[in-house]
Amino acid sequence: MHVSNKVKDLPPYLFSEFQRKKEQLQSEGVDVIDLGIGAPDLPTPKFVIDKLVEEANKPINHRYSSYNGIPEFRQSVAEHYKTRFSVDLDPDTEILTLIGSKEGIANLVHAVINTNDTVLIPDPGYPVYRTAVQLADGKVAYLPLDQENGYVPRFDQLSNDDISKAKMLFLNYPSNPTSATVELNTFLKTVTFCRNNNILLAHDAAYNLVTFNEYRAPSVLQIPNAKDCVIEFGSLSKSFNMTGWRIGYVVGNKEVIKALSTLKSNMDTSQFIPIQKAAATALNSDLQGVQENNKVFEQRMEKLYEALVNLGLKVNKPRGTIFLWAKVPDKYNSMEFSTKLLEEVGVIVTPGTAFGPLGEGYIRISLSVTLERIDEVIKRLKKFTNQEGKNQ
Ligand SMILES: *Cc1c(COP(=O)(O)O)cnc(C)c1O
Repeated sequence: MHVSNKVKDLPPYLFSEFQRKKEQLQSEGVDVIDLGIGAPDLPTPKFVIDKLVEEANKPINHRYSSYNGIPEFRQSVAEHYKTRFSVDLDPDTEILTLIGSKEGIANLVHAVINTNDTVLIPDPGYPVYRTAVQLADGKVAYLPLDQENGYVPRFDQLSNDDISKAKMLFLNYPSNPTSATVELNTFLKTVTFCRNNNILLAHDAAYNLVTFNEYRAPSVLQIPNAKDCVIEFGSLSKSFNMTGWRIGYVVGNKEVIKALSTLKSNMDTSQFIPIQKAAATALNSDLQGVQENNKVFEQRMEKLYEALVNLGLKVNKPRGTIFLWAKVPDKYNSMEFSTKLLEEVGVIVTPGTAFGPLGEGYIRISLSVTLERIDEVIKRLKKFTNQEGKNQ
């Protein structure tokens, strides 16, 4: 049957080969531990589920939502921004409900660029930015991020040509995959760069509540007058363990929100009303549940971080996200190292190259397994490094 070139040209799903090997090893009785998972393993807080059930039982909630999301959810996002970041947002014009932020990110590109327009995307970065640009017939220019500079944008690395042709820039802190975090000053520099070059900054804040210790991730909208060139995506997926619920939002520049809303009104009719109501309850809670989750991820992170350092792997200690980003030993590339880990000790990690060319030499390790499983991972990593030592 007919299949578009657009779809044919999408990159092959990198994990399918790992998935095949995983299934093969499992059928041979190997206890495979999957640290390639990009989603939290903890349950959604009970008060959120209770609210969903309560609202799902009301027939009045079985209708279509309004296209831009129910007022109650948009109001909850406005309140959340006010209490957490002291940012004022108009729920009617500066906030839009999304069916998960991934949906919004992918559709945004279509609402903003024309064919062959350039979009700057972080390298390494979340793969959806690149495929979204490709699907919208845009051109990708990589904004290089590197460990030596703490993974902050270095606009001096971009060519004048790319800068002048760029219509938008994606950024993501706390970052998937590198777990890098920033201070407000980095956002100030970025907003200034975007304003001076007439570029829309689309900040993906999927992990902005998933932080450790005293660190609080800033919002790019805290920069004065940021709304003139900025939008920010938020998600309940990672902070409230609601990946399957498909609920998120985008806030910021009115014109861009309107364009995205117009595009979306021709494609979907927002999210199920009870899901939006339950999500509003979550966002306007005291965030105690989020703190508890963060403690769980922090404990796992501390344990695995220490073990990796003891094994001689170079890894930065994250202040947020559910990932560790580690350098592989010099003699391997990302894919070789990941493949060897799976074949020799049954541990799946994600090769850094899945996130862009500069991911080469790194692996992303998910913290979405229990402490007991992390103990087992550490045992296996020790065995792996001992074998490696003997093979030299
Ligand atoms: C998980 C993730 C998303 C998507 O989250 P949803 O709201 O579930 O669609 C977006 N960006 C990054 C960086 C993510 O890791």
